Amino acid sequence: MKICVTGGMGYIGSHTVIELIKKGHEPVIVDNLVNSNPEVLNRIKKIVKVKPKFYEIDLRDEKKLDKCFQKEKFDVVIHFAGLKSVGESVKKPKLYYDNNIGSSKVLLKVMKKHKVRNIIFSSSATVYGVPKHVPLRETDPVGKAANPYGQTKIEIEKILMKVAKEDKKMNVVLLRYFNPVGAHESGLIGEDPNGIPNNLMPYITQVAVGRRKELTIFGNNYPTKDGTCIRDYIHVVDLAMGHLAALKAIKKKWGLKIYNLGTGKGTSVLELVKAFNRANKLKIKFVYGPRRPGDVVKNYANASKAYKELNWKATHSIVDMCRDSYNWQKKNPTGYQKAKK
Ligand code: NAD
Ligand code: UDP
Repeated sequence: MKICVTGGMGYIGSHTVIELIKKGHEPVIVDNLVNSNPEVLNRIKKIVKVKPKFYEIDLRDEKKLDKCFQKEKFDVVIHFAGLKSVGESVKKPKLYYDNNIGSSKVLLKVMKKHKVRNIIFSSSATVYGVPKHVPLRETDPVGKAANPYGQTKIEIEKILMKVAKEDKKMNVVLLRYFNPVGAHESGLIGEDPNGIPNNLMPYITQVAVGRRKELTIFGNNYPTKDGTCIRDYIHVVDLAMGHLAALKAIKKKWGLKIYNLGTGKGTSVLELVKAFNRANKLKIKFVYGPRRPGDVVKNYANASKAYKELNWKATHSIVDMCRDSYNWQKKNPTGYQKAKK
């Protein structure tokens, strides 16, 4: 299939592009490089021997996007593009609404014009808000967003649900990711956040390579087994494979479908640090600090629906995730930064 991968230069998108090429699909990347580096294309070529086609386009630029769709005649869109920093979204909510919701609206308009009726969207477990219970199921209510970033995911989901309802020929798959970590086993591509990482795993890997002095664990007095918060970490390659499984489902013409992509297992912050140490024979320095405002105590998926309907499940362990995250960071201590822009 010929697939438009918006945001395909980014962390999850680039891993998915690799798996798509490996399965014989033809991904075409559309990205404005606001949070990625063109070096990613060379790295993809090193791994799969194919350099995917790339359009440097801001999705909000309807004219350019229209031209691209006119030329490429896509079968499916996988829509990763978006800004994802929770902290930045609090400071610049308008930017987040404009970029994430605005670009999704333009994309849907262009898709409609060119009769592209299949879309897989990168949603997030954040749409559940503060969970009343875990594990979370797709039937659990969408909650109140904790921040503007989360709100954009809720709004885009709503728009896509409406589109699927109004146009019976549309196939919409909403994939709610839990906590993506890890990297391709080659260590050639991985997560490369700008500035100080907000997320746990990139912070740990930066401590591991000496870019940061120590990790601060936000809170150790939560009502959990060791007092630290619990998340469902999932290897980015498993996540990429989830998109391939969703593609198969789309061929069956199912209308609207929603899936959690997680492992179904909760891991505490402390457990993750210990697993990282074990996997890499290291000792990550950490201190306990105050709770991070707005943090959810426990968050993990019930991922059985994706297994039942898509025959997909995560296969990588926490140790695999820690090993591959470190391998990427060790080989690229400053991410793609050294590579030529
Ligand atoms: P990323 O920032 O690495 O990739 C997103 C890509 O989108 C970047 O390459 C960026 O340049 C591009 N982009 C942003 N705005 C654009 C625009 N207007 N036009 C064209 N390109 C644009 O992020 P990621 O971690 O790969 O996440 C991919 C998607 O998954 C995002 O939608 C994110 O919200 C969602 N998601 C991520 C996580 C996570 O923890 N990484 C969790 C849940 C959901
Ligand atoms: N966390 C931490 N120190 C950090 C970054 C994160 O203790 O420097 C904790 C955070 O409080 C949360 C967990 O790690 O309990 C996962 O945080 P992340 O931001 O990666 O994911 P999210 O909270 O968005 O699910």
